Amino acid sequence: MSQAKTVVDNDALYVQRLTLGDYETNAYLLRCPATGAGVLIDAPDEPAYLTALVRGQTIKYVLLTHAHPDHIGALDAVRALGIPLGAHAGDSSGLSSPPEHVLEDGDQLRFGQLDLKVLHTPGHTPGSLSFLTGLHLFSGDTLFPGGPGRTASPRAFSSIIASIRDTLLPLPPQTVVHPGHGDATTIAEARAEHETFSDRIQPEGLYGDVLWSPAGKDKGNEI
Ligand SMILES: [Zn+2]
Ligand SMILES: [Zn+2]
Repeated sequence: MSQAKTVVDNDALYVQRLTLGDYETNAYLLRCPATGAGVLIDAPDEPAYLTALVRGQTIKYVLLTHAHPDHIGALDAVRALGIPLGAHAGDSSGLSSPPEHVLEDGDQLRFGQLDLKVLHTPGHTPGSLSFLTGLHLFSGDTLFPGGPGRTASPRAFSSIIASIRDTLLPLPPQTVVHPGHGDATTIAEARAEHETFSDRIQPEGLYGDVLWSPAGKDKGNEI
């Protein structure tokens, strides 16, 4: 089931959220209103839908938050339109061919009059990236309302917590966080939730599907 929703619409930025596939994965189509130039963040499951949407538009890059199957089902079809891929090397083993642009922490990408900053936020996967433009953060499966993304080991859990604490939470509090599944949150809300978590004593070896608060909201079924 595909679902499109306009989540940002102002003079500086236009963003459509596309919820696609069995895991209700969010892709985001960002556009510069002044020039029409755009980028696509993630390419879930529905190739026919996504290629029809981006065909004929000036899409400078398709960018990956990470290479889990629910985020890349339509990637080859989108790349076949000639749109170059930007991804972190840490996730490239999940791809059918290497990205045209190997992205690293701190890289700046330009589309139209807009800049998009690349933040390396490992933990959910080694190559997980978040993308920041103005006060809008696209966090993939790293940060959700209610908790961090799922992790596969205690080490990965430490890594995702460090990414969130050291890279994402210091962003301006009014920054809107657009995750890879479900609805948006803000850095202010995530800071408050993280604080309740970091104030508690955690069981040793914690990982998996962790919520900031034991009574926290369900994050949905991200993988
Ligand atoms: Zn996911
Ligand atoms: Zn994932």
